[in-house]
Amino acid sequence: MRLGVFGGSFDPPHNGHLALCLLAREQLGLDRLLISISKNPFKSSADASDSHRKEMAGLLACEINSTGDFATVSDWELQRPGPSYTIDLLRHLRQESGNPELVLLVGEDSYREMPGWNSSDAIPGLCSIAVFSRHAAFSGKDPLAGILPPARFLDFDMPVSATEVRELMKNGQSAARLLPPSIAAYIDANGLYR
Ligand code: ATP
Repeated sequence: MRLGVFGGSFDPPHNGHLALCLLAREQLGLDRLLISISKNPFKSSADASDSHRKEMAGLLACEINSTGDFATVSDWELQRPGPSYTIDLLRHLRQESGNPELVLLVGEDSYREMPGWNSSDAIPGLCSIAVFSRHAAFSGKDPLAGILPPARFLDFDMPVSATEVRELMKNGQSAARLLPPSIAAYIDANGLYR
């Protein structure tokens, strides 16, 4: 079983997340996708609560599954005591789910932060890594070349972030064009990010 693992704060999930998951299904030959909600240690009062993030991640999974059963949401990281590290999630998944082949899905910004992650050297031994481009390509020699783990790169161009969604909403503007409709409706119904 080839299991995609997509972690994030999903505050809120947006069309970039949705498109990334659908592309991953098409391009990476995944059998299943696990959407894992991470703890948000830098949370401000303007951010959504863990339970709202979990509900919205569930709506993201529903949007993905409307084109075929594929995605499930895990709050394993949220439930654990202490900080949440990707390495722990990967080890847990290897143990509990019949030792699946794991593919870690990350945006390019997250990938470039990986050398600073807890036990980052051990991550490539547990999974393969798929990187979805997020910013303009670097010109010239990449200063991080050599310390980044081996990965497959997918050409991806969805210039949307949760930060942009939160900023628009804080300023009373609509972010509907950046969100799956069910998540836009959930945010409205619960008065989030205002
Ligand atoms: P924020 O703006 O609050 O930092 P975000 O939009 O980056 O949030 P996260 O939930 O932190 O969303 O992202 C989860 C994962 O999805 C990360 O690996 C991130 O790099 C990736 N990702 C999010 N949006 C995009 C995008 N538009 N293109 C490519 N990767 C993305």
